[in-house]
Amino acid sequence: MAMGMMQDHPLIVSSILEFAERWFPSVEIVSRTVEGDMHRYTYKDAARRARQLANALETLGVSAGDRVGTLAWNGYRHLECYYAIAGSGAVLHTVNPRLFPEQISYIINHGEDRVLFVDTTFLPVVASIRHELTTVERIVVMCDRNNMPDTELEDVICYEDLLDSESSEFEWPQLDEYTASALCYTSGTTGNPKGVLYSHRSMVLHAYAEVSPNSIGMCASDSVLIVVPQFHVFAWGTTFAALMAGSKVVYPGPHMDGASIAKLLNDEACTLSLAVPTIWMMLMSALKASGEKLPHLNRVVIGGSACPEAMIRSFEDLYDVQVLHAWGMTETGPLGSMCHLEPKHASLDAEGKMAIRCKQGKPVYGIDLRIVDDAGQPLPHDGVAFGQLQVRGHWVTSGYYRVDADASVSSDGWFDTGDVATIDADGYMQITDRTKDVIKSGGEWISSIDLENIAVGHADIAEAAVIAVPHPKWDERPLVVAVRKPGATIEREALLTHIAASVARWQVPDDVVFVDELPHGATGKLNKLALRAQFGDYTLPTA
Ligand code: ADP
Repeated sequence: MAMGMMQDHPLIVSSILEFAERWFPSVEIVSRTVEGDMHRYTYKDAARRARQLANALETLGVSAGDRVGTLAWNGYRHLECYYAIAGSGAVLHTVNPRLFPEQISYIINHGEDRVLFVDTTFLPVVASIRHELTTVERIVVMCDRNNMPDTELEDVICYEDLLDSESSEFEWPQLDEYTASALCYTSGTTGNPKGVLYSHRSMVLHAYAEVSPNSIGMCASDSVLIVVPQFHVFAWGTTFAALMAGSKVVYPGPHMDGASIAKLLNDEACTLSLAVPTIWMMLMSALKASGEKLPHLNRVVIGGSACPEAMIRSFEDLYDVQVLHAWGMTETGPLGSMCHLEPKHASLDAEGKMAIRCKQGKPVYGIDLRIVDDAGQPLPHDGVAFGQLQVRGHWVTSGYYRVDADASVSSDGWFDTGDVATIDADGYMQITDRTKDVIKSGGEWISSIDLENIAVGHADIAEAAVIAVPHPKWDERPLVVAVRKPGATIEREALLTHIAASVARWQVPDDVVFVDELPHGATGKLNKLALRAQFGDYTLPTA
């Protein structure tokens, strides 16, 4: 068999930066800084400074394969770190600063980070665990000389000082595309966080997928507000996809309240934005209070947890913004699936269309999905059968970093996501739950996500979580823990009646508890583990 005769260029992340600088040099990167002011520069400036930083890493003694950590908000210096660290052949390790301090030190030690890049906000956390960090040699503070904070940490270096003394000439090494590029740990809702080690190839292919129109479809006419944190799976990979697409990039820094997000969206004429539902809830209430509109925004990507139907409606009806519902996880790059309607859906009525929009959608080329039963047997794509969701593809993990006896990938190469899902005859996947959150009542499964979405569909409910509570007869029954909207007075009966209108009788929760606030984890998701601990011995009226 003859081999093809095409050129061979490695798929490495530095090639994205080189492309961006050469073909879109004047495209802007706009950041609200930790200090609160706006910073603006271009792709060309970013590329020059990334080369300076790559030289600085060499000066610091960082070699190929060394892990370099970041604890930082979304911003231009963080972007420079991404390209300089991975591009020079070291491994970019983005650490989620919202984790507990003991998890942060576990992750940094497990990753054996040699240098840490830290935003001033997170310097106190790093100082409090410094004595536990056995491999870290240097700490770089991501600010200029004027903003260097007082710190008890020894040996800290100011980011701008570090760059100032370096040349902007640097040849990016032509790495093997299978070389490790980055490391991210899952939030570890059970047990220790686990690391996913990405390759240059997986990240470049993932970025390609994100710019394709069946996915996010980023392009040069987009101005993208990237709210999803860069410390959470590379801001869903957009730090690479945006530069590949030539899109204007807008970063909120730590300022992620509704009013600040609304201002950035309008001031920077953002056409596209990405965030988890919690952020969008805050934006919606800020817009309601101010009466502002979103004249430039045309689509938002919502993922990380299920997007409630009420949110899709508000975006579309009030602001004429299209919602793209996405599913993924740290282990899948993160992009796994995305929901777009197809021509065959044009004839459906609004309700029929909405039923599809609420699904997590189809994979893009490069990802394959299946659902299996407890024995590992594939289940039909009929939209009814539900089972464990498994995934494989170019940007799916083949196993966790330095974990012995890792059973996350099956012998035939499928990664078990820990999610429960259905897939319909057209291939649209819908997450019904996480395996550990599903409510098992009398041998039947009740989806906590379904019930939550219905509950927040009530005009008086701001947020709701549904958890399983032990029941003497049925094993488990659903309990709603809900937060009322400000000023609302809704009571238990009214909420249960509202839910009963949309589900089978046996799925209606047994009780409602109203609280002022629900616990969230480090990635903004509902912390159901904490809720289950809190309500573990709750006595249901039906028990
Ligand atoms: P962690 O496992 O640490 O929470 P991730 O942030 O990678 O880390 O979370 C991935 C999980 O988030 C998925 O397995 C799934 O349960 C949930 N998830 C992500 N997107 C969606 C979505 N659109 N709808 C429902 N669940 C989602």
